[in-house]
Amino acid sequence: MENTPPHDSDTYKTLLESTKAIPWKIDWASKQFTYIGPQIEPLLGWSPESWKSVEDWVTRIHEEDRERVFNFCVQQSLQGLDHEADYRALAADGSFVWIRDVVHVLRTPTGEPEALIGFMFDISERKQTEQQLLDLQKQLEVLSYQDGLTGVANRRMFDNVLEREWLAARQHQQPLALIMIDIDYFKQFNDFYGHLKGDEILKQVASTLAHAGVRAKDFFARFGGEEFAWILPETDLAAAGKIAERCRSLIFKAQIPHAHSAVSQLLTISMGVGSVVPAASDDLNAFVAEVDRLMYEAKHQGRGRIVLQASA
Ligand code: GH3
Ligand code: MG
Ligand code: MG
Repeated sequence: MENTPPHDSDTYKTLLESTKAIPWKIDWASKQFTYIGPQIEPLLGWSPESWKSVEDWVTRIHEEDRERVFNFCVQQSLQGLDHEADYRALAADGSFVWIRDVVHVLRTPTGEPEALIGFMFDISERKQTEQQLLDLQKQLEVLSYQDGLTGVANRRMFDNVLEREWLAARQHQQPLALIMIDIDYFKQFNDFYGHLKGDEILKQVASTLAHAGVRAKDFFARFGGEEFAWILPETDLAAAGKIAERCRSLIFKAQIPHAHSAVSQLLTISMGVGSVVPAASDDLNAFVAEVDRLMYEAKHQGRGRIVLQASA
């Protein structure tokens, strides 16, 4: 059988009006609708008779989409280019429906637009799925940089920020300070109070220490286990020492009992503090290792204290 399209207009009409896509036609010269499928009414609530001129279409586009879509369609049509546009169409009940309009430009022999014919597709479901995906992506991004227990930034974020600040400090020849913080005798704390209580205290310590920084660019993270860190851009050793002192004092004020610490009745922290104006030959990992060494030095000196880098 030869595959020829039907030529009686009734068949065309039936086909056009039984699809989900809504067909329409606009006469270019008069800017009047000469046809719009009856499916428009169940979708938007406006009767086919209410689509008279291009104006009716334009005023039923969401005002945030209107100018963009109108200008684009006019410009494409004048160039005789088929096109499509996504926009929110106003429904009779005041709600909006996401529409994709696919437009074919019919031209006179001299190339002028003669009429526009097209289909409107309801793409609201697709748009909703897209939005849900975007929301999920954003949520995942936040989660991947957040420590699951304490809610502060995690090690991955710490590594990113430190790398960025190191490069900035080297470029601008500014001091970059780092404070490494470790809870004293936390193994004994868990052993005596239980792991769940340990988790609860880790959360409390994290939110307490997070208050020690003052500027927006100061960055606090959980480094791992019972260890935390402050990254302090544009901060010399003396200023960083003051932030460490504030950490110590905030934890002291929290008065968290620790019955099995060898150095106090209360939970304490040990800290190492370093600051460097990175030279091209300096190594970031070596700097972190140095500050970590200072933190262990604080442990050896009796815990619950701060050890500052020896100034050069
Ligand atoms: P020091 O004073 O030398 O730092 O002794 P410490 O016991 O704090 O150090 P150690 O490294 O021996 O033990 C760290 C403890 O921190 C052991 C581990 O169970 C506990 N810890 C690490 N992460 C978590 C956590 O997410 N939750 C709980 N409850 N405990 C944790
Ligand atoms: Mg530790
Ligand atoms: Mg510890």
